[in-house]
Amino acid sequence: MTRKILVLPGDGIGQEITAEAVKVLEHLRREGLDLELEQALVGGSAYDVHGTPLPEGTLALAREADAVLLGAVGGPKWESLEIAVRPEKGLLGLRSGLGLFANLRPAILYPQLAGASTLRPEVVSGLDLMIVRELTGGIYFGQPRGVRTLDNGEREGFNTLVYRESEIERIGRVAFETAMRRGRRLCSVDKANVLECTELWREVMTRLAADYPEVELSHMYVDNAAMQLVRAPKQFDVMVTTNMFGDILSDCAAQLTGSIGMLPSASLDENGKGMYEPIHGSAPDIAGQGVANPLATILSVAMMLRHSLEAPEAAERIGRAVEKVLDDGLRTPDIFAEGCRRVGTREMGEAVVAALRQ
Ligand code: NAD
Repeated sequence: MTRKILVLPGDGIGQEITAEAVKVLEHLRREGLDLELEQALVGGSAYDVHGTPLPEGTLALAREADAVLLGAVGGPKWESLEIAVRPEKGLLGLRSGLGLFANLRPAILYPQLAGASTLRPEVVSGLDLMIVRELTGGIYFGQPRGVRTLDNGEREGFNTLVYRESEIERIGRVAFETAMRRGRRLCSVDKANVLECTELWREVMTRLAADYPEVELSHMYVDNAAMQLVRAPKQFDVMVTTNMFGDILSDCAAQLTGSIGMLPSASLDENGKGMYEPIHGSAPDIAGQGVANPLATILSVAMMLRHSLEAPEAAERIGRAVEKVLDDGLRTPDIFAEGCRRVGTREMGEAVVAALRQ
């Protein structure tokens, strides 16, 4: 069965890094994987042509596709636009338009890059954890919200943290299933000692655990989780948490690896369809120079093959090819270390394809 992939390069280095990820996909297609690739505009580059960061046509193609590969959006050129048409709105529109409620962010430290972390190598080497973040609910979307003026004239800002049981259950199931495919340990992060909403979160996670007896479930308050992530991050296998806590903890976990150019992510809907993207942005400071690290985007392709395209073997092979180029000492400037060979975006991408051929 032909699998349709929509490629959305976006802005800045998005163009350069997705070009390399496409080379990987085209190599797999030549080997016999039944893939159909299509490209469309999103973000600032879509605004320049259509006056909107998410043209109807792009959203329609994304809905039809089995998976979406996104580069990155944004840049100084569009920063003065009104918020409604800024490039980042294109990304949010895709997430909500496709119902992508589950965000999977692995933080893996490749042994070859142990020196890149700001933490001591013994604390982080071998790190391999997955954060499952709820993406379409919680305080970022809860109503009512706003800034109001009180009777005494003082202004008051307010937001609402709200989760329905069904929302907690569906992200919980993604997390338990993810743990089943990994080390079978799941830590649910909440603030149940203070927030009733996350008391319910804890209750639902505990109830779900009965359906996954092989998974060892633990609970942790978010303040402790933040501390444990920098104290002893290897204690974690899979973490599941709310939208806002996940936003913060996943950036913290990413920084443990020290290399923003290496980390992929997946955002999934109820049926396993997903949008895959590197966690970094459009890096305007290096855009157009051919030096951006394409590995996070190539590893996003691996996540796509595993989660949306039922091709876990191809995903494994991409993971091994990336390890091979690192073993061979190839490094883009962001991960460069003494004794390695400095390469650009294209050379790194082509080395991964060459490693896949072997
Ligand atoms: P950024 O992630 O683009 O860049 C942060 C730093 O990391 C920069 O020094 C950059 O050069 C470096 N970097 C990022 N990716 C790299 C790569 N693949 N290889 C080598 N170095 C890399 O974050 P920022 O500077 O805060 O944001 C720049 C623009 O990107 C903004 O417009 C922001 O809104 C947007 N943004 C988009 C996304 C997205 O599309 N998902 C995410 C974050 C930021």
